[in-house]
Amino acid sequence: MQRSSTRIPAYFDDRYAPVEEPLFARLGTTASKLQRLRLVELRSPATLPIPLLRGLHDDRYLDAFLSGEEPMASRHGIRWSPRVRDATLAMLAGQLDAGEEALRSGIAMNIARGFHHAVHASGSGFCPLNGLALLAHAWPQRKVMVIDCDEHGGNGTEEFAARLPNLYNVSVFGTRFGCRGGTRSWAFMVRARSDGFERYLEALHEAETIVDAHRPDLLVYQAGADCHEDDPKSLAGLTTAQLFERDIAVFRIARERGIPILFVVAGGYQGAERVARLNANTVRAARWVWRRHSAHHT
Ligand SMILES: [Zn+2]
Repeated sequence: MQRSSTRIPAYFDDRYAPVEEPLFARLGTTASKLQRLRLVELRSPATLPIPLLRGLHDDRYLDAFLSGEEPMASRHGIRWSPRVRDATLAMLAGQLDAGEEALRSGIAMNIARGFHHAVHASGSGFCPLNGLALLAHAWPQRKVMVIDCDEHGGNGTEEFAARLPNLYNVSVFGTRFGCRGGTRSWAFMVRARSDGFERYLEALHEAETIVDAHRPDLLVYQAGADCHEDDPKSLAGLTTAQLFERDIAVFRIARERGIPILFVVAGGYQGAERVARLNANTVRAARWVWRRHSAHHT
């Protein structure tokens, strides 16, 4: 399906972005910017059926997170509140809706964080529930491959890949965060400033080889903005132009093979407006690839 002149369908809801939680609130800045620039068509996600979450995380943790039982409910590092819980659940609902839209039309966005540090036993690293592993958990008959290009390694998704036979994780990062590669998981540490950006592109080329070896039904791209050179957390040190090239490379992997792709924006710790600008570039890259490259369905 061609989306040459149309906007990218993007799931978002005000519930994603409670003002009292700055990490989530900035998603609202991104959503407004994308809408203002007419890059996306915003859609509200449906409500997440809670039983779908059963089995993804340990019951003890899930129940504590749903009910607010401390200290477990805030284990991920964000102080629990009903609004933090509801924001997380809304983002996960958007993840499933965007996944379905990607399967229908080829590409969709969830203006959410992927929560790649959450492991089975609990949330971790500001990630309450793993929204990337959720897709594989919810759709056991589909092969789901995550291409995670955040500054931080996707250690949580890596752990889930070892648990879920239909989940694959490729992580390219500047900060390892415990991500070492393993069962259905591949880890590439690249610091563009010292290793050169060529090395980053080589890692993406290896990701492409892994895609061809395993032929996923759905790609999930975690387009982190925290690997940008001006980000306080960045060791990967990519320039704005290099981030754009990274995005182009990942979207091309999907487009050239006709594999549906869902993308999320993930981390970014500069001012919200600067992060929103980088997020907008990711959407521009998606549209550019969809315009330029025809899908070769095999
Ligand atoms: Zn990160």
